[in-house]
Parts: sequence; C-alpha cells; structure tokens
Amino acid sequence: MPFLRPFAYPLLFLLGLAPWSAALAANNQSGATKPGTVRLFINRAGGGKAMDVSNTLDVPVDVTLRISRRVNVAGVGNGLIRTRVPANSRVRVATLSKRQPGGPIMFKHSFSYVPLFTPEPRQPGSVAGPAYALPWQGGPFRISQGAGGDYSHNTPRGRHAVDIAMPIGTPILAARAGTVVAVHNGQAGRHPDPAGNYVRIRHADGSESAYLHLSRGSVRVGTGQRVKVGTPLGESGNTGRSTGPHLHFVVQKKTGDGMVSVPFRFAQPVESLPNFASREPWDHSMRRSTSSRLTK
Ligand SMILES: [Zn+2]
Repeated sequence: MPFLRPFAYPLLFLLGLAPWSAALAANNQSGATKPGTVRLFINRAGGGKAMDVSNTLDVPVDVTLRISRRVNVAGVGNGLIRTRVPANSRVRVATLSKRQPGGPIMFKHSFSYVPLFTPEPRQPGSVAGPAYALPWQGGPFRISQGAGGDYSHNTPRGRHAVDIAMPIGTPILAARAGTVVAVHNGQAGRHPDPAGNYVRIRHADGSESAYLHLSRGSVRVGTGQRVKVGTPLGESGNTGRSTGPHLHFVVQKKTGDGMVSVPFRFAQPVESLPNFASREPWDHSMRRSTSSRLTK
C-alpha cells in the first residue's frame, strides 16, 4: 500500500482525543494529557484554498485528508494527503489552486487524525487506562477512518472509534479480557442494523469494547462467555453501514447520556503486525472449543 509507513520510533497509539468534553476529562483520573483539539481550517489563499491543521494536543498526530469530487482543482495530486503534525503546532497540509483561472473550484473533503502517544504511563503525552491489543490476526493493515472522522465518527457513541481496512474473513480477536454482553450474527447486508454483525465485550471496569461489521455467521462467542486477550470472536466483514471491508473498533463508557466513546490506545502502532506472544496464546480458546465440541 503506497502510504504505509513504518514508524521510526516506538509509540503507542491513542485514537482520538479531540473534542474532549469536560465530563470525559474529569473521568480520566490520571489524565496526564491536557484537553486539546485537532481541527482543520480552510481559508482563501490567492485564487484557491489553503488547508491548515491546528493541533493543540501535547502529542503529534497523523492526519489523513481526502479531497474528492475535485472540479478545477490543481495541486493536491490524487487528493489523498497523509502527514504528521507536531504537538502544539499549526501546519499547512494542502494548497488547492485553480486549474483554469476563470472558473470556481469545487471539492468535497474528509478529515481524520490519530494522536501518537508515548508508551510510558503518567507522562506528558500518554493516556490513562489499559492498552488494547490489536484485535486481529495478520496484517499489517491501515486506518481507513480515524478519530473525529467526519464520515461517521462524529457522534458521542463513535467519536473515538477507528476503522481499520482489512480483507473480509480476517480473524477478529478480543483486544482486552471481559465478558461478552451482546452479539449479532445473522445479518447479510446493510440492513437492518447499521453496525452489521458485531460482538460487544464488557471489561472489569465497566467499560465496553465493540467490534462491528463482522461477516454473517462468523461470530463464535456467545452472550455471557468470558474472553481473554486474543480470544477469537469472529471474522471481519462488510455488513451494516459500511463502505468497504473493515473493522470498526470502539471503546465506550456508560454516562448519564448513555454509552459514549472514549479515547483509548493500542499497545502498538496499528500499521504493525499484532503480537500476542507475551500473552495467553491466541488459539487457546479455539483449542478449547474444538475439544468441547469433540466431547459432545
Ligand atoms: Zn467506523
């Protein structure tokens, strides 16, 4: 993949931090990171447009900007721009000029970002809470929509969600131990549930993680079942409101307004191979379910 880029230094990912509400900040007890925002600004520049990203977080962010349906636009190549914006800075990420001087320019754009956090807890640039294992087998894959993405990650339930593009049938594994509290496994296409087939896991602290858009019939865990990190849950798919094969992963907490998504961090960069070596072997529960099937 053309924009796949190895990280030069080890970082933990936290997916989503901006518009960090006061309520979330208050819940984040060891919140070493100050509230901040990542915003895209579009201004007139000469005859065209200039796009700036302002990052008021204490950590750098990787931003993805897609400029589509371009009419009379020059200067942005194929319209996909990925760049890193340092902490507490404002950077010009794109300059759109006119192909023909006379007419207007038109385009659509989408924007998302991934803050890059240090691995040490309780430091500037780290985030409270446990690190989540990459919840899939294989890869590396890349983020197709990050936190705050204005396609669908713009509601309280999904603001800090992340979409990871991956082929249909990729094994999906539990990112954190807990108890399965909901599954949906019988949906073939987009309807009726926009989440498609999914697994929802409640963790010891009451938070929940959800794995969406799974393949029909692939879910292999049931409500009430305990899972460990790496327990196979099902296979990725393209069900529900999904524009291509991907996993939508989100961590949520219960608040007065219902379940809202919260920032979280993966234990390693998304664009790396998952590593379950230091944990319970990921196929442990597979073997167990196989043997229980044999004894029946
Ligand atoms: Zn999503």
